[in-house]
Amino acid sequence: MIIMKFGGTSVGKPERMKKIANLLLETPGKKIVVLSALSGTTNALVKIGDELVAGNSEAAENAIATLENHYLQFTEELFESEAYRAVGKEIVSRYFSLFRLLAAGNPESYQTDDRTYRELLAQGELISTELFYHHLQERKISARLLPALHFMSIDENQEPELEKISARLKPLIDSMQHLDILVTQGYICRNHLNEIDNLKRGGSDYTASLIGAAIRAEEIQIWTDIDGMHNNDPRIVKKTIPIAELTFDEASELAYFGAKILHPSTIVPAQKFSIPVRLKNTMDEKAPGTLISNKGSRGEIRAIAAKDGITSIRIKSSRMLLAYGFLRKVFDVFEKYRTSIDMITTSEIAVSVTIDDARQIGPIISELENLGVIETEKDMSIVCIVGNQMAEQPGLLDRVFSSLNDIPVQMVSYGGSPNNISILVKTADKNKTLEKLNEGLFHLS
Ligand code: ADP
Ligand code: ASP
Ligand code: MG
Repeated sequence: MIIMKFGGTSVGKPERMKKIANLLLETPGKKIVVLSALSGTTNALVKIGDELVAGNSEAAENAIATLENHYLQFTEELFESEAYRAVGKEIVSRYFSLFRLLAAGNPESYQTDDRTYRELLAQGELISTELFYHHLQERKISARLLPALHFMSIDENQEPELEKISARLKPLIDSMQHLDILVTQGYICRNHLNEIDNLKRGGSDYTASLIGAAIRAEEIQIWTDIDGMHNNDPRIVKKTIPIAELTFDEASELAYFGAKILHPSTIVPAQKFSIPVRLKNTMDEKAPGTLISNKGSRGEIRAIAAKDGITSIRIKSSRMLLAYGFLRKVFDVFEKYRTSIDMITTSEIAVSVTIDDARQIGPIISELENLGVIETEKDMSIVCIVGNQMAEQPGLLDRVFSSLNDIPVQMVSYGGSPNNISILVKTADKNKTLEKLNEGLFHLS
């Protein structure tokens, strides 16, 4: 069995949904198809939710009406026959009645508990899969809907429960053995309270790899709007090139450090069971894309990615001098506030760390102040250079630093992993950093 995940742009136009059905017909064997919401829908639902939180019910109502028109137009073009157009209208009207019902709830409930908000966000994937399923029906392609809310779950720490997912999923799939195509929702899940929840933005990739791992699939395919992982961020850098193969470690670092093509956690479940992940372009299915697997590639710089929203914290203390146990005290504070550290550098009298989740920064700083003088800076970005056996490449650091000689680098982490050099810069300097490294390391400009 293979998993085929199609992202927002891949399902975002009626002709693209039709193309997905063709791709499924051309792909032999059994497959679980994971769909995102149509492009723009989750953003629109977030906006509706935000308007409701802010008490702007009229703005929410307008946004719902705009989205409804989009869906009415979409179903008009997706379905060919009058009978199925009627089915399409019924589906749209059912979902939008629900949106209005959710919107009509007590506005205060949005402020105190985001349950309704999360329920609203989940509707994007529910409607896209239902529309696609009926499109398959209209074309007499046999398939079944596999409701993600029946098997996908996260625990109280928001971590997916892989074993439980597997135990629920296997009998469901066994009961549908006669079918080659099972369609399910990306992104959505249930939490430990059995409420509707999600795997965070971009989470459909994660759904695909969790399902792949849960059923030990042969391959996990992520179909998107670009021909695989590129060597640098194509949204920022003018000239980028696709990479044919990556190891799990390389892809994992790139996803974690901001390559938007993959949700940060996508590689983890796939790597656990050595299931290859293939990135493919829905708009150009002949393009080779990227294969992520155990197979290594040696001695090369592969790609650069960047992660924004980083805060740096420096703890300066003369008590650190020749002392042991100091770092443990620092780490204890972060552990207490369940905040993970991305980068760390130390000198004899200071330690600097970066975090990407600054929600607990207040209490963290007040406790760190018992250890020394604290300086923080926000609006930073980590630029991550990913490759293989980087320490063994003579002159590599020289090439990195000479590329960046007019950029104020705030922190550098090298040697922690053979796959990664991380550089901290102000977010205002990020685009220039990516361009300069593209020139210096890949000779692309
Ligand atoms: P989907 O809706 O299919 O999940 P996303 O928008 O989440 O698609 O991811 C695909 C986008 O990721 C591409 O269009 C591209 O702009 C962006 N991206 C960022 N970094 C990279 C990279 N290194 N390689 C490829 N795409 C990247
Ligand atoms: N629809 C969700 C989002 O936009 C999940 C996804 O597309 O992967 O974040
Ligand atoms: Mg995505």
